[in-house]
Amino acid sequence: MALIDIQVPDIGDFDEVAVIEVLVQTGDTIRAEQSLVTVESDKASMEIPSSHAGKVKELKVKLGDKVRQGSVLLTLEAEESAAAPAPASAPAAAPSEPKQAPAPAAQAPAAPEAEASRFSGSADLECDVLVLGGGPGGYSAAFRAADLGLKVVLVERYATLGGVCLNVGCIPSKALLHVAAVMDEVSHLKAAGIDFGAPQVNIDTLRGHKDKVVGKLTGGLAQMAKMRKVTTVRGYGSFVGANHLEVEETSGDGQDRAGGKKTIAFQRAIIAAGSQAVRLPFMPDDPRVVDSTGALALKEVPKRMLILGGGIIGLEMGTVYSTLGARLDVVEMLDGLMQGADRDLVKVWQKMNAHRFDNVMLKTKTVGAEATPEGIKVSFAPEEEGGSAPEPQVYDLVLQAVGRTPNGKKIAAEKAGVAVTDRGFIDVDIQMRTNVPHIFAIGDIVGQPMLAHKAVHEAHVAAEVIAGELQGNQELAAAAFNARVIPSVAYTDPEIAWVGLTEEQAKAQGIKVKKGLFPWAASGRAIANGRDEGFTKLLFDDSPEAHGHGRILGGGIVGMHAGDMIGEIALAIEMGADSVDIGKTIHPHPTLGESIGMAAEVAHGSCTDVPPQRK
Ligand code: FAD
Repeated sequence: MALIDIQVPDIGDFDEVAVIEVLVQTGDTIRAEQSLVTVESDKASMEIPSSHAGKVKELKVKLGDKVRQGSVLLTLEAEESAAAPAPASAPAAAPSEPKQAPAPAAQAPAAPEAEASRFSGSADLECDVLVLGGGPGGYSAAFRAADLGLKVVLVERYATLGGVCLNVGCIPSKALLHVAAVMDEVSHLKAAGIDFGAPQVNIDTLRGHKDKVVGKLTGGLAQMAKMRKVTTVRGYGSFVGANHLEVEETSGDGQDRAGGKKTIAFQRAIIAAGSQAVRLPFMPDDPRVVDSTGALALKEVPKRMLILGGGIIGLEMGTVYSTLGARLDVVEMLDGLMQGADRDLVKVWQKMNAHRFDNVMLKTKTVGAEATPEGIKVSFAPEEEGGSAPEPQVYDLVLQAVGRTPNGKKIAAEKAGVAVTDRGFIDVDIQMRTNVPHIFAIGDIVGQPMLAHKAVHEAHVAAEVIAGELQGNQELAAAAFNARVIPSVAYTDPEIAWVGLTEEQAKAQGIKVKKGLFPWAASGRAIANGRDEGFTKLLFDDSPEAHGHGRILGGGIVGMHAGDMIGEIALAIEMGADSVDIGKTIHPHPTLGESIGMAAEVAHGSCTDVPPQRK
């Protein structure tokens, strides 16, 4: 093992370029040709690959550093053998040899290494790719792999595909949030001379509407799996070796064991087993205590509801129940709701939604709960010494929304040699490869942010890498998760959406930014909608090196349809746009989307829809 310096190679006409992304960390095991940093000149950005494989001993550059040909990026403990492609581990009884061996795993799992079990039985099914879990990650991986010509088996324990997102997450919550938003909107029309009177809520019909929405989508997935000749196997999957999965067949609506078993042999596997809601240990087992799945079941509308945890999922469900008639309390250990979003965005939502809440308990923890005939009696304590907390309160419904935990420890991953962290996550490299080179993992099970669009993106990467390796297609085999940003959205009313760097992060990291903020009070469309409480803000690089033409680093929107608009800001970040690029892009008028162009013009100093800006 030799220590070598990895240097910037010949980068053409560029004399000096800035490091805008560091893609590896000290301790990472990397492949030859793996991207190490992204650099950017005033004309283009490019990734610089490693000339050798090995372990990163010391990083020599950080964000913002200027480098040129010959600059040392890092010191590597180079492994001769790792620089050349190595064969995949192919234990006995593997279905058939891959057409092309994969490159070795390029990552440093934080979890302890596990040794794979040897499986010597026979298999009922054989495939190129086994996908474990039929959520957005799993079905997208299966479909992409099938579209690329691979033989795919998809294992899902529940009766329908779609996972948490389609069945008990993104989709049913948005079906209900849409109804709630329309109800709220209609109630505001009274001021415009239209009075529909008080709403009559039929909870059974509303539940039926939500179920119909879900059924339409999950039914569509089953059809698409058939059209692609993806074999779906219903049952609970556990690894029994590095190339075998055993499936205990399940039946009914849930995951009741039906008695039968199937063994599937695979060349490659993609683990997409997702996550589940965290349950607090002291919460009584009582139908009045629910997680998000229980809340979405929409059994009845409580009078008093406690949301435990002030994150997006809890507040979205709270919005629905409140519009249907519940009074809300929320308890959160941290000092603000919707952590992660800039406070100025959250403030607008909080002001508009104050009427829904009796108590917003911040820096407060829940310390006990008891089921009583009157309701669930919940006790609170201050998070900090010397703080105060309310007396115990009684609720008709308590929603536990304190986070989600990955399912990594429930699939016997160790029998395949796959390392799982103490918390149940599976570490992967940027190609979504686990510590076992022919097994990949995607979605909630590999880490935050636990979002469906991240899972789908990762799914395509894993499927493409596998197809590339099995079919000898170098371009596909080089696929990697290179997205710069992943947008976040709270589908509350108003919606809050943000992407890339936040103002708080910029401050904490000492990054100088120029802000362009366009208040919707100046937006013709927002005023016409009677909803001008929001704003759009963009953050541009304002470091001296940017010479006043810095690229966009982040942005946030609060207001109606913020979630539908944030994609434009994500695209601008991916494309490295500056304020002129965005401001000079003609946006249609009058739309809420033009607030993005106008925020860019504000940053540039050329916006004519706001009062004259001071120079
Ligand atoms: P999952 O969707 O969890 O799917 C994993 C699948 O694997 C499941 O179907 C499970 O049954 C199956 N499985 C697990 N173990 C086994 C096994 N051993 N054998 C067989 N099958 C197994 N994200 C967004 O991007 N936007 C939103 O608006 C949004 N809203 C949400 C609202 C709520 C209430 C919740 C709870 C989540 C929301 N999310 C949202 C998050 C989103 O649902 C997840 O990020 C996404 O579903 C993760 O996809 P996945 O494929 O990794 O896992």
